[in-house]
Amino acid sequence: MAYDQNNIFAKILRGEIPCEKVFENEHVFAFNDISRKAPVHILIIPKGPYVSSADFYEKASADEIVALNRAIGEIAKEKGIVESGYRVISNHAAHAHQEVPHYHVHLLGGADLGVCFN
Ligand code: AMP
Repeated sequence: MAYDQNNIFAKILRGEIPCEKVFENEHVFAFNDISRKAPVHILIIPKGPYVSSADFYEKASADEIVALNRAIGEIAKEKGIVESGYRVISNHAAHAHQEVPHYHVHLLGGADLGVCFN
């Protein structure tokens, strides 16, 4: 699947659509999910044009991959949810109901999130 430069997160990265920014560095941008499912619900995205998890981990540089994963920990620490706990989710393609075709990680926390798998 080719990257769509007009997807909503590309527009957020270009500043064409507002967002509640929570973090930014050279490779990574993060903002509050518009429809939060937990007290902390942050979307963490690479600045590069990657469609999904599979695309990102196949094509991104080592620096980009490290930066994205480090950002998860930094944001969790900043939000004070490391001790209480958090969940990281990334939906890839149809069976996971990925809605936005720009790779993103959901960081959820701030309350008991329930059991995910049993
Ligand atoms: P996914 O199903 O993993 O692709 O999730 C996409 C997420 O993007 C959903 O949780 C939406 O609530 C969120 N979302 C869509 N548009 C926006 C927006 N403009 N600002 C912030 N979050 C958004």
